[in-house]
Amino acid sequence: MSYFLRQYRQNFWHGKFSSFPDDLIIHAISTRLSGVSKKPFDSLNLALHVGDNAEDVLQNRKLFANSLDLKAEDIISPNQVHEDKIFRVDESDRGRGAMNYDDAIKYTDALITNAPNLPLMLCFADCVPVLFVDVDNKAVGIAHAGWKGTVKKIAAKTLMAMTDEFGTDPTKCLAGIAPSIGPCCYEVGENVIEAIKKAFPNHIDKLIINRDGKTYADLWQANLIQLIEAGMLEENIDVARECTCCKSSWYFSYRAAHQAGLNETGRIAAIISIRDA
Ligand SMILES: [Zn+2]
Repeated sequence: MSYFLRQYRQNFWHGKFSSFPDDLIIHAISTRLSGVSKKPFDSLNLALHVGDNAEDVLQNRKLFANSLDLKAEDIISPNQVHEDKIFRVDESDRGRGAMNYDDAIKYTDALITNAPNLPLMLCFADCVPVLFVDVDNKAVGIAHAGWKGTVKKIAAKTLMAMTDEFGTDPTKCLAGIAPSIGPCCYEVGENVIEAIKKAFPNHIDKLIINRDGKTYADLWQANLIQLIEAGMLEENIDVARECTCCKSSWYFSYRAAHQAGLNETGRIAAIISIRDA
């Protein structure tokens, strides 16, 4: 089990979880390379809401979707608001948020579906993407877990929603925790420390790290722990352990951009779709 980058064509890459079955689903994490957006969104920015030229974003979405044999106009995307609402997507939602941010699924940070050929896509720049595959029931899910989503346990709630809607067995479900800011770089203040202590009282030592007079949080571990507590097996959870801030030449990182004096940056995306039977 591992996370790896697979080359699609020259300097165009797909981040992949080796545990996810390619014959059943299509999935990928994008990088920031080989898109058309200009600075500070250079170059494969996939988010419409960050102030980039919409035509460039749509072109990037087309490049990314086509590289996976998907159609950009089919993408379903939510307005991510750092809450814990989960939305079950079906055929009638096809294309919501694909071309226009206004018709994206509102106030939602996780999508689940068992409908084939519906690409679910969420955007990230340091927040933690958590992807789910239920092979037995042919269902998928994807969640956006920044520190707020992590302490609200949106990943565990997404798994539970899949159990309610599709009969997903947590002990058989697969998950991937994709590239995002790591404990190496995620320096946090008192509000985040307190929220993590409250949400994970039994795991404070693992999640809050003091180093050189500063305090860092481990959101990878916090999401891993909540999935195990929700009944998943650790061997079914693939943690990429790739830090977007350390690797900001590969991935968009809000923290790295801020440290470089930029007010904005682009977004990578995580996408997942069940193949047509
Ligand atoms: Zn780092």
